Amino acid sequence: MINEQYKAMLQGKSVIRQLSEFATERGKEIGYENVFDYSLGNPSVAVPKEFNDGLKEMIDSMTTMQLHGYSPSVGIASVKDAIAESLNERFGMDYKGIHIFPTSGAAGAIAHAVRCVTKPGDEVITFAPYFPEYNPYINTSGAVLKVVPANTKDFQINFEAFDEIMNPNVAAVLINTPNNPSGVVYSTETIKKLASYLNEKQKEYGHDIFLLSDEPYREIIFDGVDSPYVSKFYDNTLSCYSYSKSLSIPGERIGYVAVNPRCTDADILSVIMSQISRGIGHNCPSSMMQLGIAKVLNMTSDMSVYEKNMNLLYNELTSLGFEVVKPGGTFYIFPKALEEDAVAFCNKAKKYDLILVPADSFGAPGYFRMAYCIDTEKVERSLPALRKFVKECYGK
Ligand code: PLP
Repeated sequence: MINEQYKAMLQGKSVIRQLSEFATERGKEIGYENVFDYSLGNPSVAVPKEFNDGLKEMIDSMTTMQLHGYSPSVGIASVKDAIAESLNERFGMDYKGIHIFPTSGAAGAIAHAVRCVTKPGDEVITFAPYFPEYNPYINTSGAVLKVVPANTKDFQINFEAFDEIMNPNVAAVLINTPNNPSGVVYSTETIKKLASYLNEKQKEYGHDIFLLSDEPYREIIFDGVDSPYVSKFYDNTLSCYSYSKSLSIPGERIGYVAVNPRCTDADILSVIMSQISRGIGHNCPSSMMQLGIAKVLNMTSDMSVYEKNMNLLYNELTSLGFEVVKPGGTFYIFPKALEEDAVAFCNKAKKYDLILVPADSFGAPGYFRMAYCIDTEKVERSLPALRKFVKECYGK
């Protein structure tokens, strides 16, 4: 019998993917360079040369088994040690190799982390606006995703609404900072308040509440923005990291879970995750990628273009009268649409070859997302189209 749960998911196909496919088709008609495709968060900047050089050197010097063999089910020990050391140096933590569990990107990290700290029927709370893939990530684990409405003033956490939804069935809270889609970075004040709230609730309910901190944009922070390392503030934190965005290698599928050494059962969680891998058939990310990233742990692509693009768009959008919170990082910006129905708004924009993503599926109807991980030259060329669209459709 066909699995009805997965069959039903066909109705909820990713809006982002559909718009990206539309942009590709339109590109065949008018040339992709003329489509202002702000749909997909696919990094546009080059991987660091050192990453490529490291891979070449490994290919020339290592054996087939070392490079292409199965890795241990908990990950390669030397890589785990190196990641732990790098995090300790950068964030003043005290991880050991045993606290690091290599995964296939942040998606793989969340898939393991959620299964590790919830049982079917438990609730996981997240905050709008949120990455729509959290629905399949969480709901296919058997846990149930609950969403706290957005605080549209500044897109920090809406604590009042959070408190209304919180209940003893909540086993984990999933946050994403810097945030896709808002581009907002949770402040130290927000993270401290969250930590103290969760500590109180753990005491009140008499059980652990884990904080799953989804951090694929951790390295994309703009000038002068406060960007706390979440795990420092709350012991029961599992940090879900990915090299997809910081090294521009999303197709290589590499990331990790970092288990806070002070969390419950800290020393066995990554071993438990290796058992979860057996169940979901997602064991051992590529050995070559584990070894490859270990050579460039404190390095990123040159991501300065993202801040440049953000400033261009932010200035243009505000001068056109859009309500928009200035992003502190990522490569997303999240303005309010000029009509209540953001789907209608984004459909109208398509006629100007502007591909914008309505935020209904991000849990924030009325808003839209622009992923500006594209060439600055293209952002500049898109601005007259944006002005024309706003003038012709909204008289501004
Ligand atoms: N979480 C967020 C917020 C993301 O934006 C993405 C990818 O865009 C992911 C998780 C998944 O990341 P990865 O491609 O590393 O699995």
